[in-house]
Amino acid sequence: MDIKHTDVLIVGAGPTGLSAALTLKKLGVAKVTVVDRELEAGGMPRLCHHIGFGIRDWHRIYSGPQYARQYVKKAIANGVDIHTSTTITGWTGENTLSFTSPNGLGEIEAKAILLATGCRERPRAARMIPGKRVQGVFTTGSLQRFVDEHHLPVGTRAVIVGAEIVSLSAFLTLKQAGIKIAAMTTELPRHQIYFPFSPIKWILVDLLERATVQTLTRVSRILGQKRVEAVELTHLDTGKTEITACDAVIFTGDWIPEHEVARAGGLAINKGTRGPQVDAQYRTSKRGVFAAGNLLRGVETADISALEGRQAAHCIHKFLQTQTWYGHKLPIEVEQPITWVYPNTISDAEGQPIKYLSFRVSEFRKNVSVKVYQSNKLLHTQTFRQLSPLQTVRLNGDWLTALNLEAEPIKLVITS
Ligand SMILES: Cc1cc2nc3c(=O)[nH]c(=O)nc-3n(C[C@H](O)[C@H](O)[C@H](O)COP(=O)(O)OP(=O)(O)OC[C@H]3O[C@@H](n4cnc5c(N)ncnc54)[C@H](O)[C@@H]3O)c2cc1C
Repeated sequence: MDIKHTDVLIVGAGPTGLSAALTLKKLGVAKVTVVDRELEAGGMPRLCHHIGFGIRDWHRIYSGPQYARQYVKKAIANGVDIHTSTTITGWTGENTLSFTSPNGLGEIEAKAILLATGCRERPRAARMIPGKRVQGVFTTGSLQRFVDEHHLPVGTRAVIVGAEIVSLSAFLTLKQAGIKIAAMTTELPRHQIYFPFSPIKWILVDLLERATVQTLTRVSRILGQKRVEAVELTHLDTGKTEITACDAVIFTGDWIPEHEVARAGGLAINKGTRGPQVDAQYRTSKRGVFAAGNLLRGVETADISALEGRQAAHCIHKFLQTQTWYGHKLPIEVEQPITWVYPNTISDAEGQPIKYLSFRVSEFRKNVSVKVYQSNKLLHTQTFRQLSPLQTVRLNGDWLTALNLEAEPIKLVITS
């Protein structure tokens, strides 16, 4: 079997992987190899034919495909070795991964590995919605492949399940394709669209509201024989149901990290994020293996993922130079309504490139304090005027450098 050798192997040619690769080359790493199972590099943005990409990393506004092309072009120009149609299938050694490609099977051995495999939406089957297996059911990703990549018909009247930022992307794709939106549903009391660009946001939110965002509403059944004919909506506050006619249902959001490669390598998985456990230097529980981007926690904007890729590249570069590796020592735990935090473990107290922790909550809360404890010792308090589900919030991480690594786990709690 063909065994290739590289300095850094990056799994995933999305914004995280490509920005990490670019940074590693700029830092002088000789051989950086990126593999992706898709025919083309660029990751999810390739399929999002609307603007809203590149604000924080390129300081410009691109459409998804323009943004993806920009990364691919720069990576190639800087000497990154990109292999598409190449799927990582498992581990054959501590730092060796197996792959399959049109040229056959092979193995790649690397001095360091970055997992940047992104995340996926939970499809209908995983959401346990009764009804026959009919045509006309999509996730945002499959909708965008149908409409923008293959130019196939989707339907004429759609219900969007979810009312978060990616639901907005589904909304725009449907609008562009001339498909009516019968309803957009969320089980929460409000939509959860938090958009960095305020003027656009308010135009879109207005459009969405006119598209009848139905809050506290669940799609409880899909009706139809061969294709979708209607959905049953259950209003969670009253328990009443109603039938809404439609011929397409788009399941949006509800992300799960694409963690198969990480799991196959025996990496510790965090039960809150469902991605690999990482410390503040993006180190996983396996020596020489790093993880960044949407794999860590589900969907964030592409620029945030790309900036994480850059930071992770600096950590990888440092590891290549010093060969220093600290194992995970102190878990960071959360108490409801906090659902997850990352970094979610601490290995050492030296130089933390992540200056803050990111966390999410499961319910809307106003005027609360988030407190960080180790045993009964209060390490940090920060107040927030408003916390909302599906909005990632930053907690200052100054306290990360002043910890007793031999003591109890760290805990994040919310108090009113
Ligand atoms: C519908 C939608 C709309 C969006 N709209 C916006 C927006 O307007 N603005 C914005 O900033 N962000 C937006 N985003 C978010 C943005 O696309 C993501 O944050 C970004 O793509 C994350 O980058 P990533 O590199 O972590 O993951 P991805 O882009 O998902 O890349 C991961 C890559 O890993 C590859 N991979 C996975 N497993 C393997 C394997 N075993 N072997 C080989 N390759 C593998 C995949 O093929 C994929 O190419 C949107 C996302 C979606 C889904």
